[in-house]
Amino acid sequence: MEPKWKIVRGTIISPISDKKSKCYPNGVLILKKYSNGYRIEELGAEKILENYQGLRSVEVLDFGSKVIIPGLLDLHFHWVQDDVRDKPKDNLLKWLENHTWPAESKFKNLAYTKKKAKSFSQSLIKNGTLGGACYGSIHAHSVDAAFKEFVGDFFIGNVLMTMNSPDYLLQTKKQAKSLVEKLAMKYRRRYVVTPRFAPTTDEDVMRFGSSIQKKTNCLIQSHLCETENEIEWVLSIFRERKGFEDVKSYSDIYQRVGLLGENTIMGHGIHLSAEDRKILRRTRTAVAHCPTSNAPKNKRGLGSGLFDFKQANKDRIEWGLGSDIGAGPFLSMLDVMKSFVEQNKGCKHATYVSALYRATLKNAQILKIDNRVGDFAFKKEANFNVLNFECSKKSAQSVLEELFKSVSSRKGFEELIDQTVYQGRVL
Ligand SMILES: [Zn+2]
Repeated sequence: MEPKWKIVRGTIISPISDKKSKCYPNGVLILKKYSNGYRIEELGAEKILENYQGLRSVEVLDFGSKVIIPGLLDLHFHWVQDDVRDKPKDNLLKWLENHTWPAESKFKNLAYTKKKAKSFSQSLIKNGTLGGACYGSIHAHSVDAAFKEFVGDFFIGNVLMTMNSPDYLLQTKKQAKSLVEKLAMKYRRRYVVTPRFAPTTDEDVMRFGSSIQKKTNCLIQSHLCETENEIEWVLSIFRERKGFEDVKSYSDIYQRVGLLGENTIMGHGIHLSAEDRKILRRTRTAVAHCPTSNAPKNKRGLGSGLFDFKQANKDRIEWGLGSDIGAGPFLSMLDVMKSFVEQNKGCKHATYVSALYRATLKNAQILKIDNRVGDFAFKKEANFNVLNFECSKKSAQSVLEELFKSVSSRKGFEELIDQTVYQGRVL
């Protein structure tokens, strides 16, 4: 039988904000068992153990001075793009056409999809990712299979592609709408209305998605202003469509079909105009920043540019970090965090403390699950990663700096995860 209490020991880091994390070398995390798993009872220094003396039914998990961080959350990834992570990257639109779309079409096959979902779920665990916002293919069973296999707080949607798409992925409006309705009713809040991006999804279907969102209060996700030629393309498409002739910006298209709001996450937002930023702020739409995907080609990204997080902070636009697998080459959110810091070298606000916050607690807030996960606050679910790295420094920034310095190859981030723990149980 499982014990009522668990005591976890290690160098424990709990994010608070961009500027602050709690850090307890020789720290203690007290977990208490509830009907649906273990939750945090208390986080603190060694001395809090005094309050728990004489407990019966207790298991001690002593990780010495190994670093422990909350379960990672990925705000933007395509689980059906695992096979194109290593494909040569030209630019966004060519990459979609030559690699991504053919790869996604394979998910038409149910057996293939089920097999892939199993192995992808293992990759998520190995990389310490315990939740996030995720894109499937156009096929309903790409959502079903992912929900069945993934462990954690995942929000998943099927991409909607009703125009400007290859024949083998093109849906009719009717097909797209009926899938949205069926899956939204099935998964309710965990479903995500997912127009691939405005160039491939007509206004009728996007409007329908918005109406379904209002019924189920689910999330909406799509892509916005990733590259300049994408922006030109989308504006040229929509300015020829009725009701959009005078459309001013990419965001304005999404705004007119009712897709923006505080439950919406837009991927990238690299090339936002002042008008875009105004719309995002006003509608409280969040941006998923994917630094490894946007990185230059020699860093294995698509070379789309750099998201201006300082401007976003000034504008009070919510944003978090995502891997954008498969444009991002690695699933590890640790790799994403490192890329965020490295690409913004010289900016004093781009710290590891901030990166950790944006890959955990901030993403939890954007996904509206911060009442349950994201840090080690009282009664939150005991979701965390024990890292293969020992350090007893007192400041979170120093611990994290040492930690990231210790990893020489990008593949090494996977090996950095020693144990992934979900609701107090090792996966
Ligand atoms: Zn994406």
